[in-house]
Amino acid sequence: MTTDVTNVKREALWARGTGLPDYHTHNSRCGHARGSLREYVEAALERGLSGIGVSDHLPLVHTRDPELSMALSELEAYVCDVRDLQTEYPGFILLGIEADYRPDTFDDVHGVLGSYPFDYVIGSVHYLDEWPFDDPRQRHTWEGRDVDDVWRRYFDMVGEAAETGAFTLIGHLDLVKKWGHRPLRPIEDAARTLAERIGRTDAVVEVNTSGLRKPVAELYPDLDLLRLLREHGAAVTFGSDAHSPDDVGRDFAAALAAVREAGFDSYAALEYPPTSIESPDHHPAGCVGRTPRAIPALRPLPTPPQTKAGAKGSR
Ligand SMILES: [Zn+2]
Ligand SMILES: [Zn+2]
Repeated sequence: MTTDVTNVKREALWARGTGLPDYHTHNSRCGHARGSLREYVEAALERGLSGIGVSDHLPLVHTRDPELSMALSELEAYVCDVRDLQTEYPGFILLGIEADYRPDTFDDVHGVLGSYPFDYVIGSVHYLDEWPFDDPRQRHTWEGRDVDDVWRRYFDMVGEAAETGAFTLIGHLDLVKKWGHRPLRPIEDAARTLAERIGRTDAVVEVNTSGLRKPVAELYPDLDLLRLLREHGAAVTFGSDAHSPDDVGRDFAAALAAVREAGFDSYAALEYPPTSIESPDHHPAGCVGRTPRAIPALRPLPTPPQTKAGAKGSR
């Protein structure tokens, strides 16, 4: 097996070749990621990304779980820490947050989002009713479920999230596949409906590379969904969902290749609001503008140096 270090270095080269922004990153505050905010920012710089969006999990409003998110009382400090880093690295960092979309908590979540000056908000569905279907601690609770029904309900919920207008980006569009559960019957009609619903909104779909590191071993969303999104005029952008600084920008070359293959010629880059840096004044959550940027060409990955058998340890 290849060592992790080699893979990390190769990924860093891939990311450098893309020059994309990474809008989905976490940090140790959430209780299940490692690394400080600064380490994530430095990883993004080191890998030649064009910017980083800090998007830690918004505290859950319906329950408190220290392994899922920071406490509500820490949110202010989170915002201040990101603001401080923004001053240090102007024009490179956006203040984001990843919020759960659940119909039963939406009003409360919306209220919290409106109280802080987030540049953008990722809307994600991690719950179906009370069921945290992607929580590793709950993986066994998939047993006995009607997988087709779960997929359909999930797609419906994501469409609803986009239609609220509260979210700048839609996170990991087909997260429901994380553990590898596949619908038994075709789901194309539901996928098409989802793409149509998103295409009618301003919500941007992130191509999230974390699925490649999960049992499903695929990008979120897959190529079929990406094609449907393009057909329906939805915009896309990029996120690693890094829970470790090593994962910033990881597999962006794969994401880029998929987006190209699906027929996109541009992606949405989020703009830097002057208020982020010059004044602490609140602006409505998720209000930053977006600019279409051309999909960059992929540079070939440099060939790793060959070590000849018996020639090691010369120095
Ligand atoms: Zn997380
Ligand atoms: Zn998520």
